[in-house]
Amino acid sequence: MSKNQNKTGSYSFFNCIEKNFDKAARFISIEKGLLEQIKACNSVYRMHFPVKIGKEIKVIEAYRVQHSHHKLPCKGGIRYSMKVNQDEVMTLAALMTYKCAIVDVPFGGAKGGIKIDPQTISSENIEKITRRYTSELIKKNFIGPGIDVPAPDYGTGEREMSWIFDTFLSLRSGDVDALACVTGKPVSQGGVRGRKEATGLGVFYGIRELCHVKEDMYSVGLDVGLVGKKIIIQGLGNVGYHAASFFHESGAIIIALAEREGAIYNEKGLNVSKVFLHLKNNGSILNFPEATNIENTEKALELKCDILIPAALENVIHKNNANRIKAKIIGEAANGPITPEADEILDKKGVIIVPDIYLNAGGVTVSYFEWLKNLSHVRYGRMEKKFRENVNAEFLKVIETVCKKKISIEEKKMILRGPREIDLVRSGLEDTMINGFHKIRDLKKSLKIENMRTAAFVLSINKIIDSYEKLGIFP
Ligand code: NAD
Repeated sequence: MSKNQNKTGSYSFFNCIEKNFDKAARFISIEKGLLEQIKACNSVYRMHFPVKIGKEIKVIEAYRVQHSHHKLPCKGGIRYSMKVNQDEVMTLAALMTYKCAIVDVPFGGAKGGIKIDPQTISSENIEKITRRYTSELIKKNFIGPGIDVPAPDYGTGEREMSWIFDTFLSLRSGDVDALACVTGKPVSQGGVRGRKEATGLGVFYGIRELCHVKEDMYSVGLDVGLVGKKIIIQGLGNVGYHAASFFHESGAIIIALAEREGAIYNEKGLNVSKVFLHLKNNGSILNFPEATNIENTEKALELKCDILIPAALENVIHKNNANRIKAKIIGEAANGPITPEADEILDKKGVIIVPDIYLNAGGVTVSYFEWLKNLSHVRYGRMEKKFRENVNAEFLKVIETVCKKKISIEEKKMILRGPREIDLVRSGLEDTMINGFHKIRDLKKSLKIENMRTAAFVLSINKIIDSYEKLGIFP
C-alpha cells in the first residue's frame, strides 16, 4: 500500500491528484522541493457562519481554497453540495491551477464550496447563505477582481453569481472593476454571451478534435469523425446537457443519459432537447416515451458505446466497475470522475481517457473572456462589428463588379455579417480547445508518455515552472 492510500486502500481525492502529478514529475527535471511547492495548496479558508432559516439558526460550513498564487487572480467555481469537504475543495482548486496553465489562462487555481443541499433549501435561504458567504470572503480578502474570482460549479449558476456580485458591490462601492469579482453572471449583469454552455461546448470541441485524429481512432478500432459515434452521458446539468446537445447536433448518437434517479436508453438515439423538456415537466428523466428505463443509474456507465462522458460527480468510475466499462473513449467532463485505480485498469484495456484538466477547461476559458470584458468595460465586437460589415460590403461590390454576377440576398447576409460577441467567444474557445489538444498530444508523442492525463500534467507543470521562473522565484 502506498503512503497516499488510507486504511481501506483508497486514495483521498487530493492524493489522487498528487499521484497524477508524481507520474508527470518523472518527465520533468527540476529540484524536488520546487515540485512540492507547485503541488501544495497555498491558502485554505474554512469557515462556519450562522444563518437564520425559518425560526432556527443553522451553522453553515463553507470553504475557499486558493491552490496557487503563481498567477493572480485565483480562479475557480463554487459548489453547493452536502458532499463538500476540505479534501474535495483542495483537490478541485489544484485541478484549476493545472487546467488554467494548459489552456493559457493567466490565473492561479481556486475553488469554493458550501455544505448545503440546494434542492432542499428555498431560494430565499440560498440567497441568504450566498450573500453571507460572500461577505465572509470579503472580510478575509478572499474575493476581488485581482485577488480571487469565483464562478459557477456543481449546484450553482448565474443566479448565485449575481448575488455574489451584488454583495461585493454593496460592500466595495466605487470599485470601478467590481463586475470582474465573479464570472458566470447573467449577460444583463456583465456576463459574457456563451459562458453558460462553454464547458459543454469545450467538451464537444475536445472530443471532436480527438475523433479527427486517424491514428488515435484506429488505435481503438473506431472510424474517423464524430458522426454516428455512440455516446453515453452521465449528468444532465449545465455541462452534461450542453455537451449532449452539441454532440446530438453534430450527428453523434446519444444512446443513454444518466441522472441521479436512474438512466434512460435507446440504441437508435435520444433527442436531447426532448429529454430535457421531459425532465423539466416531470422532474425526472425516467419514463421518457422513446426510451427504456435503467433503474440503477450507475449501470448506464457500463453499456456498450464508443464514447462515455461522465459529467456529474467525481469518483464514479472506480476499481469495482472499471473492468466492466466498455467505452473506447472516456471524456472527463466532470472533475475527477475516474479514481487512480480505475485509471490504471482502463489504461491497460487501451481506453483513451481525455483528462478533466484539459477537457472541461472551456468554462474557465470563457470565464477569462468575461473577466477581460468586465475589466475593459466594453462588449466584444462593439468596436469592430460595423467596421467589418462595411469592409465586407466593399469587398462584395468589387467581387460583383469583377465577376459581373450578382450575389443572392442569402449569400450576402452570410458574407456581410460582422462578428458578434457570441461568435468571438466561441471562436476563442474553439481555438483554445484545438490548440490544447494538440499540445498535449504532441508532448505525449515526443516524450513517449503513456497516456493523455500524464502528458497534460507535464504540459501544465512545465508552464507553471515557466511562470515561476519569470517571476524570478525559481532559480
Ligand atoms: P450541475 O449541478 O449543473 O449538474 C450536475 C448534474 O449531475 C445534475 O443534473 C445532477 O442531478 C446530476 N447528478 C448528480 N448525481 C448524479 C449521479 N449519481 N448520477 C447521475 N447524475 C447525477 O453541475 P455542472 O456545473 O454541470 O458540473 C458537473 C461537473 O462538471 C462537476 O464535476 C463540475 O465540477 C464539473 N465542471 C463544471 C464546470 C461548469 O462550468 N459548470 C466547469 C468545469 C467542470
